Amino acid sequence: MLEYELIRSKRKTLALYVRRDGRVEVRAPLRASKGDIDGFVMTKLAWIDKTRRKLALRQEEKQTFQVTAQEEARYKKQAKVYLQGKCLYFSELMGLRHGEIRINGAKTRWGSCNRKGDINFTYRLIFAPEEVIDYVVVHELAHLREMNHSDRFWAVVGQTMPDYKARRQKLREFERRFELVLV
Ligand SMILES: [Zn+2]
Repeated sequence: MLEYELIRSKRKTLALYVRRDGRVEVRAPLRASKGDIDGFVMTKLAWIDKTRRKLALRQEEKQTFQVTAQEEARYKKQAKVYLQGKCLYFSELMGLRHGEIRINGAKTRWGSCNRKGDINFTYRLIFAPEEVIDYVVVHELAHLREMNHSDRFWAVVGQTMPDYKARRQKLREFERRFELVLV
């Protein structure tokens, strides 16, 4: 029998998940018997196998960067200079003014901004292709006009960067492959 983690709760049905590391998790009602649960898992074996193979493949495609604390500090400085330059260039192009540019180490957020016009970027962004970096910069700058993701916002982005949709797609691809590990 396949090994799995069993989580019982007040739910009514059985459900099965394959975690990112390949572990299988089964959620079951409090009263479900071990036989019922094992039977349920049996019917899912082919799917589990397929899913695990897909996950392994995705892991292989990952591009992993190992970064020391010292290197991280250096990347942050480089990111600041580089992204300040990008913001200067694009804000002139878009005819707007931004506040301070700050660099952080955020893992899941490439950029953010506040109403004062200050923009935060994660230094991790400088690992992305330039066309992707430019998209993130224009995206954040466009927020200085429209603090939302409305049609008006995307119109501002599109005015400066007509191919933003393709770039956004490339950002998603980059996100899927990019992995930075602090060592
Ligand atoms: Zn946004």
